[in-house]
Amino acid sequence: MSAFHDETVLSVHHWTDRLFSFTTTRDLSLRFLNGHFTMIGLRVNGKPLLRAYSVASPNYQEHLEFLSIKVQDGPLTSKLQHIQVGDKLVVGKKPTGTLVIDYLLPAKRLYLMSSGTGLAPFMSIVRDPATYEKFSEVVLVHGVREVAELAYHDYLTNELPRDEFLGEMVSQQLRYYPTVTREAFRNTGRITDLIESGKLFTDLGVPAINPADDRVMICGSPGLLRDLKGLLEVRGFKEGNTSKPGDFVIERAFVEQ
Ligand SMILES: Cc1cc2nc3c(=O)[nH]c(=O)nc-3n(C[C@H](O)[C@H](O)[C@H](O)COP(=O)(O)OP(=O)(O)OC[C@H]3O[C@@H](n4cnc5c(N)ncnc54)[C@H](O)[C@@H]3O)c2cc1C
Repeated sequence: MSAFHDETVLSVHHWTDRLFSFTTTRDLSLRFLNGHFTMIGLRVNGKPLLRAYSVASPNYQEHLEFLSIKVQDGPLTSKLQHIQVGDKLVVGKKPTGTLVIDYLLPAKRLYLMSSGTGLAPFMSIVRDPATYEKFSEVVLVHGVREVAELAYHDYLTNELPRDEFLGEMVSQQLRYYPTVTREAFRNTGRITDLIESGKLFTDLGVPAINPADDRVMICGSPGLLRDLKGLLEVRGFKEGNTSKPGDFVIERAFVEQ
């Protein structure tokens, strides 16, 4: 039996020349937890060329959604960036990962800290009603270089708070904090600096991050993961995993080669 489903591209949206998102059909048998990633890719000369991708859509949606980088000489994304509606993609049958709310101990507030395409798993988690049942406040932090890289900014600001089913929870419980490092914007600076200086918490009007009140999920570059993990551990946070829940969980948004 194949390890993959063949799916069809339903829509493609190009955010910038380095970033795009797309939706595909979803086999009814594909099960995943919000925050999971799976292997996806293209058949090249009959063989699947695959990479890990977080699922950006929530698990109750009929279609699948992904947010992707475009690496000009990347084996997969040099091709994937040209996909069109109606093209075929392969999607792995075994989603997995650590960015799952069950792997966090209960607390008041959940921080979802991301850079670049690390936003993807959090787009699934902020559209899951269970997230708002477990945490009374959810803070989505997204760090990018340029304003145009703030994928889903308008959706998060204008559409999701008015969603028919999630709107009430989202408008009362979700705080969205986009930050930009290389252009002027309402929030600027690296996530780690915003935490160290306390500016993130002053801007949000909340106490400084602490393990009694807060839980954290991190998805970003290997450097961001390393720095944020260190910063949390110094403050007494314990890392959780799939077998033992903790105060924070992490997942790489990509692997540096
Ligand atoms: C657990 C996990 C989840 C992932 N989820 C996603 C996702 O949701 N969306 C996504 O676009 N990628 C994701 N990736 C990265 C993805 O697997 C591929 O690396 C990416 O699609 C590029 O593939 P490629 O074959 O074109 O180039 P690769 O040979 O895989 O990568 C070439 C180089 O490009 C850079 N790079 C790769 N991916 C990224 C990225 N996302 N952001 C910035 N620089 C990058 C790195 O420096 C890498 O060494 C994930 C990786 C892991 C490990």
